[in-house]
Amino acid sequence: MEAQVLIRVVPSYARGLPISPPPPRFELSAKPLFRSSPLRSTASRPAAASTEKPRASAIMEASGFDSEGREFKNAEEMWGEEIGKEGDVHKRKEWYRQGVGYWEGVEATADGVLGGYAHVNDADIKGSEAFLKMLLAERFPDGGRGRSLVALDCGSGIGRVTKNLLIRFFTEVDLLEPVSHFLEAARESLVPESGLAIENKTTNFFCVPLQEFTPDVGRYDVIWIQWCIGHLADDDFVSFFMRAKAGLKPGGLFVLKENIARSGFVLDKEDRSITRSDTYFKELFHRCGLHIFKSKVGIPTELLSMRWMNPGIR
Ligand code: SAH
Repeated sequence: MEAQVLIRVVPSYARGLPISPPPPRFELSAKPLFRSSPLRSTASRPAAASTEKPRASAIMEASGFDSEGREFKNAEEMWGEEIGKEGDVHKRKEWYRQGVGYWEGVEATADGVLGGYAHVNDADIKGSEAFLKMLLAERFPDGGRGRSLVALDCGSGIGRVTKNLLIRFFTEVDLLEPVSHFLEAARESLVPESGLAIENKTTNFFCVPLQEFTPDVGRYDVIWIQWCIGHLADDDFVSFFMRAKAGLKPGGLFVLKENIARSGFVLDKEDRSITRSDTYFKELFHRCGLHIFKSKVGIPTELLSMRWMNPGIR
């Protein structure tokens, strides 16, 4: 079933594309979501890599594409162009400036953060809720009810995931979001006056990007990372998780919900993010000293197939 690790609906890929009837398995979820025709044809190729288990060293050698259809022979070539060599601070800053700059131009609504696909919200939340319940039930015999649990919602956007899901399971939720008008919208909809139970509260609103964030040691039961890790370059991805590990309580968990490329990667030139393959993620987790504890392919809708990864600490 590894092969089903699929593709995608990242908000950014979905922008402006028409909703098509459900495609047949693989091609299907991918096809309507890519913007450019070269990528469409790539997406509909058979999933050749799916049956192979590439060696860790070979993983980063897989080729990838950008959203304009250009092929890169491997991730190193792509990153060399996008963020330059180590020490090229200017280029790296520019990568992150453009990523945040893209979102600064997006309206602070569910449709905005979901790339025009606000209607996937319910299915997204339902699927996440089932996954979270399963994790909490494994960790606590009482499913965590009645305990003081703390979560961090990373790249929270307008607080959609916190408001619809996390706030119901955690006593405190912190939000991290680099785009201030999103975070402001989140704060407005999450303050106690909004009618949410007073004992469940959002506590901290951090207006910083993940690559610059270091959590307080041992604060979180769950660090939830949804649809934002693609903005991080590989080395920042690894150092973020290394720092964030220290932010987990003993037995705490990361939950990563992300779109998965069939192989290699896809670079979105518009919002400066990349979608990584399953093996690409595994290689990065390996470098972080993390392993995937549980994963689940998300609720396929006509558009949407995604996967939760729950990297545990090795
Ligand atoms: N997780 C939210 C929002 C997804 S949209 C949800 O599921 O509703 C992607 C979010 O990633 C945007 O809010 C964007 O501002 C944020 N983002 C962009 N670059 C980021 C970075 N470097 N670090 C953290 N978040 C980032």
